[in-house]
Amino acid sequence: MESLTLKNVRLEGKKTSIHIKENRIKQIGKPQAADTLIDCEGKAALPGFINCHAHSAMSLMRGYADDLPLQTWLEKHIWPLEAKLTGEDIYWGTRLSCIEMLKSGTTCASDMYWHPEKTYQAFRDSGIRAVVSSVFIDLFDDEKREKQIKENQELMKKYGYENPRIKIAYGPHAPYTASRESLEWIAEESKKQDALVHIHLSETDKEVKDCVKQNKLRPVQYLEELGLLSENLSCAHGVWLSQSEKKILGEHKVNIAHCPTSNMKLAVGGVLDYEGLTSRGANVCLGTDGCASNNNQSMLQSMKTASLIQKHHTNNPTRLPAEKAFTMATEKGAKALKIDAGKIAEGKLADIILVDLKNTKLLPTYNLKSNLVYSATDDCIDTVIVDGEILVRDRHMEGEEEVYEQINQIKERITAEK
Ligand SMILES: [Zn+2]
Repeated sequence: MESLTLKNVRLEGKKTSIHIKENRIKQIGKPQAADTLIDCEGKAALPGFINCHAHSAMSLMRGYADDLPLQTWLEKHIWPLEAKLTGEDIYWGTRLSCIEMLKSGTTCASDMYWHPEKTYQAFRDSGIRAVVSSVFIDLFDDEKREKQIKENQELMKKYGYENPRIKIAYGPHAPYTASRESLEWIAEESKKQDALVHIHLSETDKEVKDCVKQNKLRPVQYLEELGLLSENLSCAHGVWLSQSEKKILGEHKVNIAHCPTSNMKLAVGGVLDYEGLTSRGANVCLGTDGCASNNNQSMLQSMKTASLIQKHHTNNPTRLPAEKAFTMATEKGAKALKIDAGKIAEGKLADIILVDLKNTKLLPTYNLKSNLVYSATDDCIDTVIVDGEILVRDRHMEGEEEVYEQINQIKERITAEK
């Protein structure tokens, strides 16, 4: 598509036109002639959501095992199921997530999972913007480390610069599953290539205690010593942090992908300290985590949960207001993933969603962002544009049916093998 004009669209409450040339917002104001013209009467334009922590193929595990203690859930259910998944399964699971994410207004996701080349292909085929990382787990074994390093090098070489919508990142699973040598190698590669790094950090109290026992340092101090802390690093969770760890994260301007729904469902026993982290300079963005622990990938729901948990936990209804929750899901996500989006402004990437102002969840519209955070459901999202390309129109996406058929077949096979 060469050019696209969204006319009669509401932007920050005012009616205007947005002109898109190739993949960027060229002009906002008077309607311009374009190859495609959409009359957006009754719709408002907003930046697409950026999901900073996903394991997209885990959509295959939605509803498979819930309401269990963490270790039982992982060891008896999730890991055995993961062992049965083929590369093809992961492709289709990721495609399912792409549909779910796009239709709920997410235009970019940062993913960490097995078979990253299949994840990459699924993102590429769906058109969504993404950051793909392989799960780097060596369990402190030299042979496994060498194998992982080789696979990561190959992934970066093959796909690192192939598609402008998809970046390849390094994905060390966590300080308790990746060795010191691996983390040091990743820190060095990230510096050399200015590449993003995606890790799990301090989700549970137990992993913090184990880290102190093993390394004589808390996880953040340990990562600082290894040279991993930088603006290129996104840490999922960050629940169990000491005051001095928050200070260190702030000094290095590290990104923290808050996953409130997953934290509550898995009962990790703590709540991310939004004020404590942001006031010290960390960039707190938002993620859904995988479908086994959420169980959906709607950023609308995650924004609401993030806001409510801060209020509830601090006994203060003024904490994390709607505007800030919305920024976490857009601008702050763009900052974390170093993507020139997250805002509707001239020159920015055209990653835009149109919401239906006639949806009951958005009426009356005193404050659209408040309605989106506290009231909206996925069916409020009418149209989704990524990189100037319309991927969802009137809540419909091309190729949905084939994906649903494949998912049902995979489910039948998994159930038969159970
Ligand atoms: Zn995760």
